[in-house]
Amino acid sequence: MNIQEKGELNMLLPQFEYHEPGTLSEACEFMAEFSGKAKALAGGTDLIVNMKKKLLRPEHLVCVDRVDEMKGIALSDGKIRIGAAEKVADIAASGDVARGLSALAVGANSLGSPLIRNLATIGGNLCSARPAADLPPSLIAYGATVTLRSKGGERTVAVEEMFTGPGETIMKPEELISEIVVPIPSGAYGAHYIKLGVRRVLEISIVNVAAFVRLDDDGSHIAEAKVVLGAVAPTPIRAPSAEEVVKGQQPDETLLAKAGEAAAMDAKPIDDFRASAEYRTDMVKVLTKRALRAAYEEAAKK
Ligand SMILES: Cc1cc2nc3c(=O)[nH]c(=O)nc-3n(C[C@H](O)[C@H](O)[C@H](O)COP(=O)(O)OP(=O)(O)OC[C@H]3O[C@@H](n4cnc5c(N)ncnc54)[C@H](O)[C@@H]3O)c2cc1C
Repeated sequence: MNIQEKGELNMLLPQFEYHEPGTLSEACEFMAEFSGKAKALAGGTDLIVNMKKKLLRPEHLVCVDRVDEMKGIALSDGKIRIGAAEKVADIAASGDVARGLSALAVGANSLGSPLIRNLATIGGNLCSARPAADLPPSLIAYGATVTLRSKGGERTVAVEEMFTGPGETIMKPEELISEIVVPIPSGAYGAHYIKLGVRRVLEISIVNVAAFVRLDDDGSHIAEAKVVLGAVAPTPIRAPSAEEVVKGQQPDETLLAKAGEAAAMDAKPIDDFRASAEYRTDMVKVLTKRALRAAYEEAAKK
């Protein structure tokens, strides 16, 4: 039996046609022409692996790496616009992101390894829709939106609304994410992201938590809070019970512990080879408390 016949050893890619558009409208043309049979190719760190495993067999790959409109990180009008084909390493290294969206910078820095971060893109991280992905929790906490482009036009969707299940989103087969827009919050705000894995690097999260707080005008109480949990439900989820616990309050260790307990009630974890549901629930309590504390401390310094 040769290697081609022996399925489990055959890591060759299935056949496909490769397209390399130079503009966003050209990319949308390809996606429309081959709708349902085409996939966007960004860094390939997810797609190519799945194609080698024969989990996906797109007949056409539309590479977005040369589409300038899908690149860049720009701060203007109180928003940071990140091109969907921007590499995770560039997001991790961006001064604007570090200053305005520190929790996103932490998430980008914790994704994979330097090699993966140099290939992986923010658009690919969102579209692969893994429940444990590193970028969605902080993007949701900051209230980010994605711009979805197709030959037919454009629509804007909140990152919080885009996931429908593991590997599934509300996107139509011919749609591309062109950019991610993150509003820079006003006033005294802080945010933090914590990822728990078995190893420190090159690890998919067992649990991850992003927290965001904005203080009231005199800087004493929490006016707004968001807690987002990853890897404890089929999609990243908000933890509204934890948010309610801290809203209007001046946090201390007892209150933060209560918020952790409340977040654990919102989580819907499963047992899998990485961790038991019970362990994940316990870690949601601990990480929510730590993430909220760090977010509050950052806000209190502003
Ligand atoms: C060794 C290894 C370690 C990893 N570690 C982590 C980790 O720690 N944390 C983590 O979150 N992920 C991790 N990943 C998963 C993966 O690297 C990331 O999800 C990455 O951000 C995917 O981006 P990409 O550009 O490589 O996407 P691709 O593989 O190119 O694409 C992924 C999917 O998104 C679609 N797509 C890409 N861009 C667009 C777009 N602009 N519009 C529409 N569709 C698009 C593709 O068609 C495909 O379906 C790891 C992967 C590997 C192989």
